[in-house]
Amino acid sequence: MSSRYIRRNVDAMTGYVPGEQPKDRDLVKLNTNENPYPPTPRIAEYLKGLDPEELRLYPDPVSTRLRQKIADTHGCGIDNVFAANGSDEVLALCTRAFVENDGSIGFFNPSYSLYPILADIRGVGSRVVELDDKFAWRMPSDHRSDLFFLTNPNAPTSLQYDREAVYSFCKGFDGVVLIDEAYVDFASYDCIDMALELGNVLVARSFSKSYSLAGLRVGYCLGAAGLIGAMYKIKDSYNIDRIAQEIAFIALDDIDYMRANAQRVRVTRARMTSALESMGLTVYASETNFLWIDCGDGAKAFFERLREDKVLVRYFPGPRTGNFVRVTVGTDEEADVFLKVAGGQ
Ligand code: PMP
Repeated sequence: MSSRYIRRNVDAMTGYVPGEQPKDRDLVKLNTNENPYPPTPRIAEYLKGLDPEELRLYPDPVSTRLRQKIADTHGCGIDNVFAANGSDEVLALCTRAFVENDGSIGFFNPSYSLYPILADIRGVGSRVVELDDKFAWRMPSDHRSDLFFLTNPNAPTSLQYDREAVYSFCKGFDGVVLIDEAYVDFASYDCIDMALELGNVLVARSFSKSYSLAGLRVGYCLGAAGLIGAMYKIKDSYNIDRIAQEIAFIALDDIDYMRANAQRVRVTRARMTSALESMGLTVYASETNFLWIDCGDGAKAFFERLREDKVLVRYFPGPRTGNFVRVTVGTDEEADVFLKVAGGQ
């Protein structure tokens, strides 16, 4: 195949590889951090009453009703809210809105594996900042980039950084910090106040994890109106479809339902953690809906053995991550199956 038609950096790069979505329904699926519980039942009611006639018309291009709901939820103005086609869209738009062609994007390693790929797509440099050997915060004082992707709590390590470290980094940083809070509903604190106080900080949220709506594709970010306005200039014309705007609104309107599910996940998380620890494994103190388990040089074999026993988890080869498996917190029944198979080690 000739590549002469393809942009050089696109030709050279590898694309993002999402976690497997297996066809086999018998698998206990603990590999992509989806929520094991269904979304609010009010969504089923809405879908039953949906008139397909509505789909004749384009959606609201700037998701006004949904954004007002998000703004009310967080106590900010609608101009501080960008509503997106999944939080992945927020990340991609940040690379286009806030990074010069000769600029760079910073992020920690290990962190969300999409970030270096977004830099490659944009054709700019990645400035990788290595976390310490326990995956704790370590920011060199001379770090510079146009945009820093800061996942908090971090994935795949499941840890939340010290709040003061995050705040003082954001305050002193000479660029935009996107705090990716995809997992924050399972954590101890959030950074919304930083986005509303500091002119260079955005906080991104997702409906995919805590709201049990990964299949919907809605996320959002909050921050200074100037940054939000720049993102609105460059987004796709109709970035969120009609049905998704409505369903995300309904989910936010029943936020207590989401919180109750997040609490169930936290309880199962604690139970899985102590069971694994009593098997002699090291489990990091998760602030997310997944566990980061140190398996030493047996990680790949553990992953493969689980797979043979029909439990699917995630393994990331590589020098920083190759001794670990990442396991999504499932229902109590799923946790029991996983623990039984894990215990047969
Ligand atoms: N940020 C992080 C850290 C994630 O793990 C994910 C999910 N892969 C996302 C963002 C993207 O989430 P969404 O489904 O909202 O696009």
